[in-house]
Amino acid sequence: MRHICVLGSTGSIGVSTLDVIRAHPELFKVESLTAHSNIELLAKQCEEFKPTMVVVGSADAANRLNGQLKTMGLHITVEHGAEALVAASTLTSVDTVMAAIVGAAGLLPTIEAAKLGKRILLANKEALVMAGDLFMSAVASSSAELLPIDSEHNAIYQCLPDANTSNGGSRGKYASLGVKEILLTASGGPFRNHSLDQLKNVTPDQACAHPNWVMGRKISVDSATMMNKGLEVIEAHHLFGLPAEQIKVLIHPQSVVHSMVRYIDGSVIAQLGQPDMKTPIAYGLGWPSRIDAGVKELDFTSAHDLSFEPVDLHRFPCLSLSYQALASGGLAPTILNAANEVAVDSFLNHGIRFTQIPELVERVLNQTQVSGAMSLEGIFEADKVAREHAQTMVKGLNA
Ligand code: NAD
Ligand code: MG
Repeated sequence: MRHICVLGSTGSIGVSTLDVIRAHPELFKVESLTAHSNIELLAKQCEEFKPTMVVVGSADAANRLNGQLKTMGLHITVEHGAEALVAASTLTSVDTVMAAIVGAAGLLPTIEAAKLGKRILLANKEALVMAGDLFMSAVASSSAELLPIDSEHNAIYQCLPDANTSNGGSRGKYASLGVKEILLTASGGPFRNHSLDQLKNVTPDQACAHPNWVMGRKISVDSATMMNKGLEVIEAHHLFGLPAEQIKVLIHPQSVVHSMVRYIDGSVIAQLGQPDMKTPIAYGLGWPSRIDAGVKELDFTSAHDLSFEPVDLHRFPCLSLSYQALASGGLAPTILNAANEVAVDSFLNHGIRFTQIPELVERVLNQTQVSGAMSLEGIFEADKVAREHAQTMVKGLNA
C-alpha cells in the first residue's frame, strides 16, 4: 500500500488524484492533504479520506476548517502556512507526494520531500522551471523516484527507452540510446486561430475555456499564451537531460497524441490517450504497475483526425521567451516564471490585456539583473525581485 500526500488537493489535479485513489482503496491511503482556501471542499475530502494532517493557507482558513471538522466529529491536525506545507509532504508516514500546487508556492514542500527520497508525482511544473538543477540533484542524491504527471512529459517518459527507471538512470544519456529528439505536442489553446488584433481583446473567461482540457485558471491562461508549452520545454530539459535543440514543439489540436520521441533510425514513438489527467496520474500512482484510471477508452471504430502543424511564434512569443530563458540559464528561468505568474494573475484580475502578458515577461526577463547563487535562497530571492519588478511594471502600464 502507498501512503499519499496530496499538495493542492482541491485543485483540478488534486481532485483527479483523489478520484483515482478513491477507486483503489486497497492500494492507497491518504496521509495528508493541503489546500489554499477552498475549505468546504477540503472538509468533504477530510470526511472521506480521513488524513492525519491537513494544511491551509491562512490562520483564518485553519480556524474555519477546524470548526467544520469539529461538527463532523473528525480529529485531524490542521496547520497553516509555508512551513506546514513542508511538514505535510515530509511526514514519516508519507512515501508518495502528488505535487499539484500551482506556481512557485509548490517548490519548497516538493523539493524537501524529494530530498528525503520519497516518490514525487510532479504536476507542479513551475517548481522545475524555477529550480530545475537543484531539484534534479536533490532527486539524484536521495534516489527519490520522480514521475512526471504533466501529460506530455508522462507520454515522453513512456516512450523513452528505459521507462523502468524513475530516478533518472538514463538522464543525459538518451543520445547514446538512439534518441534524436522529443516532440512536445500542444493543442494551441482556445486562440489557436486568432489574429494578433483579436488577441488584444480576449477576456479571462475566454482564455480559461480550453477546447480539450479542464484545468485551473493559471495553467489555462498559460495554455492560451503558449507559455505553458514554454515552461514544458524547460521542464523536459531538466527531466530528461536533453539540450533545447533536441526539444521541439508542434501543434496538435486534437490532444490525443500527448507527445512523441523520435529515434535516429527514423522511428517515432507516440503515446495516445484521452485528454484526461487521470491517465498520467494513475500511471504515477501505480508505477511500475498499471492500474485502472477510470478513463473512457479511445474509440478507434469512428473516424479520427490527427493533425500536426508548426507553431506561429509571432502570435505566441511566450514560447520563444522560454527558449531564450533556457539558453541564458542561471536564474533566467526563475525570472521568466515569476514574471509570468504576476502577468497571468494581473490578466485574470483585469489589470492588463492578454497581449501584454508576453510584453511584460519579456521586459522583466531582459531588465532584471540578479546574480544570486544557485541555492534555494538565491532562487527565492530572484523570484521575489522579479515579482516586484513585474508588479511595478503592471502599475506603470495602468498609470
Ligand atoms: P488549480 O488552480 O486547479 O489548483 C491549484 C491547487 O493549489 C489548489 O488546491 C490550491 O488550493 C493550491 N494552491 C494555490 N495557491 C497556493 C498557495 N499559494 N499555497 C498553497 N497552495 C496553493 O491548478 P491545477 O490545474 O490543478 O494545476 C496544478 C499544477 O499542476 C500546476 O502547476 C499546473 O501547471 C500543473 N498541471 C496541471 C494540469 C491540469 O490538467 N490541470 C496538467 C498538467 C500540469
Ligand atoms: Mg502539459
